[in-house]
Amino acid sequence: MRNSLNKQVFIVFAFSIIFIFPSFSVAENNSDKKGKDIYTPWQRGEFEIHQISTNCGESAFLIFPDGTTMIIDAGDMRTSRYFPPVPDNDIDTGEKIVEYILSMNPRKDKIDFVVLSHFHPDHTGNIAEGKKREKNEQGNFYETGISRIARFLNIGKIIDRSFSDYNYPQPYDKNDSSFVNYRRFIEWQKEYKNTRIEGFNIGSTTQIKPLYEADYNKYFLVRNVACNGKVWNWRKNEIKDYVNANSENLLKKISENVLSTAMLFTYGRFSYLTGGDLCGSLLDEKGRLTNVEAHFGEAAGEVDVCKTNHHGYFNAMVPEFVKEVNANVYVMPVHDSAHLGEKVIPCLIKRAELMPDKKSLIVPTYVPENFRDTYSATDFISHFPPVSGHVVIKVSPGGDSYSVYILDTKYRIYGTKWKSETFKSKGIK
Ligand SMILES: [Zn+2]
Repeated sequence: MRNSLNKQVFIVFAFSIIFIFPSFSVAENNSDKKGKDIYTPWQRGEFEIHQISTNCGESAFLIFPDGTTMIIDAGDMRTSRYFPPVPDNDIDTGEKIVEYILSMNPRKDKIDFVVLSHFHPDHTGNIAEGKKREKNEQGNFYETGISRIARFLNIGKIIDRSFSDYNYPQPYDKNDSSFVNYRRFIEWQKEYKNTRIEGFNIGSTTQIKPLYEADYNKYFLVRNVACNGKVWNWRKNEIKDYVNANSENLLKKISENVLSTAMLFTYGRFSYLTGGDLCGSLLDEKGRLTNVEAHFGEAAGEVDVCKTNHHGYFNAMVPEFVKEVNANVYVMPVHDSAHLGEKVIPCLIKRAELMPDKKSLIVPTYVPENFRDTYSATDFISHFPPVSGHVVIKVSPGGDSYSVYILDTKYRIYGTKWKSETFKSKGIK
């Protein structure tokens, strides 16, 4: 414990230095680049989406135009199939996420919203893999993923898919040690850190919103479009429940993935869609398999930027979904060799063919060294930026345009490796 406190003090100290001199952490190593191509810290009016590269799961950090801050997922998981952790294996994944966020956050350690897409370890944390975790004795839980980052951050609200009894749409699995650990963490966090915990409210446009300047609510909207197998078609103002459409769906264990929470962010003409690992099929009222991800795409409609569902794994990003969202940029948070593996390539090529506009970008958070050589002759590789790392979407004040930055994954130094051209936002229809 003493060790951990010393570490905490050191981290807070190191973060304070970085925060006082924010340009140090983001601008170093950029001296050879033109000033306009360098990522500069968030400024009021901008909307930023940071997909953090750890190779141990998924985590995104968002800064709304008024400075409201949000984290979507904080995973920490490893298997032998996973890509090597970045920047290295010695640093706890949660601490890497925290360090990155504190380097970028205009509100220092203050996080207004955390939304968890679902309860898989690569999105919330994992205690089952045998890696040594610090125990929070007071709360009787281990610190991993979300419960690790919460030690260092001041979180206003945590929203998950099935608070408070965690029995919807099916009773939670009491043998899932990582999930039991998460529940203990939530109870403790609520009691001792005064964090508000809520269930994700599908169909809402007010559960998540700018908190500091009410004026932005006219231009910046977060629509809660999917959760627990329900999908909200916001144009028709209709919520369809794909789990309860057929009682047979509940007779066997429903995958966590298809229950993921999903949000559509719009800022002026700009739009961003993120839906955790939402993919898979359920039985419809006539007993036929129906793909929920395809319905999700149809309900969300066309967007500028889309996070790939289920990391872009071969069972996700079905053509029906891609056709509907028709994004200019697909941010692909990968960590498993199966996310950029043989099975995925044909799907990627198909996806590339579905994007007639050659400007469309597929932006993975990590690309293995030999990958580009192996696939250099393929068409889809021309959709990839030449480098990988932390991915930042920076949307201009008002939302008319946006650019993609790729930042270095070195610890505490986030030099700009690449910047896209500036894209004009489409405007949602
Ligand atoms: Zn996942």
